[in-house]
Amino acid sequence: MSDLQLVEHDGPPRCVVCGAEAVGPCRRCDAMVCGDCCVLTEGGADVHAICVRCDRRGGRDLGTGYRALARSLLIGFLALVAFVVAMIWLTR
Ligand SMILES: [Zn+2]
Ligand SMILES: [Zn+2]
Repeated sequence: MSDLQLVEHDGPPRCVVCGAEAVGPCRRCDAMVCGDCCVLTEGGADVHAICVRCDRRGGRDLGTGYRALARSLLIGFLALVAFVVAMIWLTR
């Protein structure tokens, strides 16, 4: 029963991509990655390291998150406009 807990504590953290010794967590998903499996990314003033999985998914710039945010704000704004127009039309 108790020997199940031994797995968590032996050795240094492992890279989630290739299993080598990890050097640090990914900036986006916090997965531990080694030097070969991380990509340096320029996000404004400072440089971040992200894992290759996040790099493949979202591209190198951190601006994709802002674009998604801007798009959802636009959709929310359009929904609000549609709601206001509908209220004006209904109360006329
Ligand atoms: Zn690796
Ligand atoms: Zn990641």
